[in-house]
Amino acid sequence: MGESIVFRDHMHCINDKYSFDTFLEERISKGPLAIIECFEEIPCDPCRNSCFKNAISFDKSITSIPKLDIEKCSGCGICVAKCPGMAIFIADGSYSDDEGLVSLPYEFLPLPNKGQAVKATDRYGRVLCNGEIYKVKTSSNFDCTAVVTIKIPKEFIMEARDFILI
Ligand code: SF4
Ligand code: SF4
Repeated sequence: MGESIVFRDHMHCINDKYSFDTFLEERISKGPLAIIECFEEIPCDPCRNSCFKNAISFDKSITSIPKLDIEKCSGCGICVAKCPGMAIFIADGSYSDDEGLVSLPYEFLPLPNKGQAVKATDRYGRVLCNGEIYKVKTSSNFDCTAVVTIKIPKEFIMEARDFILI
């Protein structure tokens, strides 16, 4: 899929130390990590400004594509809520042997409830798998955007980027 190739190239740019496969296996399996899927060169930088770990940077100016320092990111999810483009997600492969977590920005009301059943969808809105709401995080600092975490089969955590409540 073309978009996956763009994504892979982007991740290679982020940190040459990791190939895409070892990145998945060694880093995400240890805990949550921001996945920045922002590929437009637009003047925007709330992601960088919101990160207290200074894990997000730009090569030249704020019109550059943001880069993530994998070593610094704690997967806290603040940047997920702060990104106006809804372009940042958190992938976590450490939940269990066969299930993983994906955190997404969510701007609808009412908010979903923990335990609610969902169908996870990919970047094109195609249904991938069944899952459930694992956590709903809100904050007065989140600018009316919640961060919703879904629990899904682990093999889909790098593809699931939205969900449908069922
Ligand atoms: S998840 Fe947290 S630590 Fe990682 S880039 Fe976003 S704000 Fe920074
Ligand atoms: S805040 Fe979001 S849209 Fe803006 S540069 Fe960062 S990742 Fe891209």
